[in-house]
Amino acid sequence: MSVDDQAGLAPYAARAANSRGRRHPEPAPEYRSEYQRDRDRIVHSSAFRRLEYKTQVFVNHEGDMFRTRLTHSIEVAQIGRAIARALRLNEDLVEAIALAHDLGHTPFGHSGQDALNHCMKDHGGFEHNLQSLRVVDELEERYAEFNGLNLTYETREGILKHCSLKNAAAMGEVGERFLKKQQPGLEAQLANLADEIAYNNHDVDDGLRAGLITVEQLNGIRLFNEQHERVAAAHPGIGTRRLVHEVVRRMINRQVRDLVETSRARIADSGVASLDEVRAGSAPLIGFSAPMAEWNLELKQFLRAQLYRHYRVKRMSSKADRIMKALFGAFMEDLQVLPPEYQQKAVRSERDAGVAGRARVVADYIAGMTDRYAIGEYERLFDPARLT
Ligand code: MG
Repeated sequence: MSVDDQAGLAPYAARAANSRGRRHPEPAPEYRSEYQRDRDRIVHSSAFRRLEYKTQVFVNHEGDMFRTRLTHSIEVAQIGRAIARALRLNEDLVEAIALAHDLGHTPFGHSGQDALNHCMKDHGGFEHNLQSLRVVDELEERYAEFNGLNLTYETREGILKHCSLKNAAAMGEVGERFLKKQQPGLEAQLANLADEIAYNNHDVDDGLRAGLITVEQLNGIRLFNEQHERVAAAHPGIGTRRLVHEVVRRMINRQVRDLVETSRARIADSGVASLDEVRAGSAPLIGFSAPMAEWNLELKQFLRAQLYRHYRVKRMSSKADRIMKALFGAFMEDLQVLPPEYQQKAVRSERDAGVAGRARVVADYIAGMTDRYAIGEYERLFDPARLT
């Protein structure tokens, strides 16, 4: 019998004692709940440590002040836990999902993922969500008795946010809900939205700090403008750095409050009394009110147009795109330039699954790289002045 979850969980919260369990049965942990053990395994994984040097929007060496995937994941866990506690959901499970949700991300943010997906288009494609699950199910090599981290079903369910129907069909239990159009548990729904709150707000903060967007521009966005007016009225003459932080933290609060209140009402209206009933639902119960969803969309569209497509960001992403494609091409052309461990894996995988098998191992190797490691590999492979 494992240690219990926190006291006072709602009837529709996930409970470690009712978990669908791990793929490889293990004795229960002595001093932790099953979801705490999941979280701890994630924190000790090598993929988690590498998040420190993987980009969100800004390439890692652009500056030490920007978010990385590691600090992003910690922010998602923090926001997620706060919401979980307010809704009496399982905080440990939310934390585990939040800390693991980006483990499968490639170097160089979204441009890296797009480039790898392009390289893999004839070999089954590349989805970062699926890759996060692959990291915790297969790729981590840390335990004597199994590959991966052998996490509980509920954590794995939360990591797999999206999945194409084609891939879902090949994934067994964890892919079923996509085929049956069912919902994941509330903790998974929540972690997904905590992710969105975290990245929208920190991209505002990072974008301003980088000088790629301005307060004047953001004042055209209702979510920002509402809080900006309040801060400016209450604190005339406040310095810009404090002003921006005050506005961003109030924006996060505003969104969290909306999410908690809306979700609480939806849960009550739905009458769900168990996790099974949550899963059987036709729509997610965790969500923003309609006006907040619209304000959020407005902010996202602004960030897409003004920040993610800013020419300075585009320069980073086009460089990243070239690096990723060049690495993939070089490894596919000649496996002998891969480190021996990956060569052996690629040969085995090609034996089992043909050229797609070889490509999958190359993609695993590249996806696991940090930004700076990918740049180093590129230099080692292509810079004529570097022969080692
Ligand atoms: Mg994320």
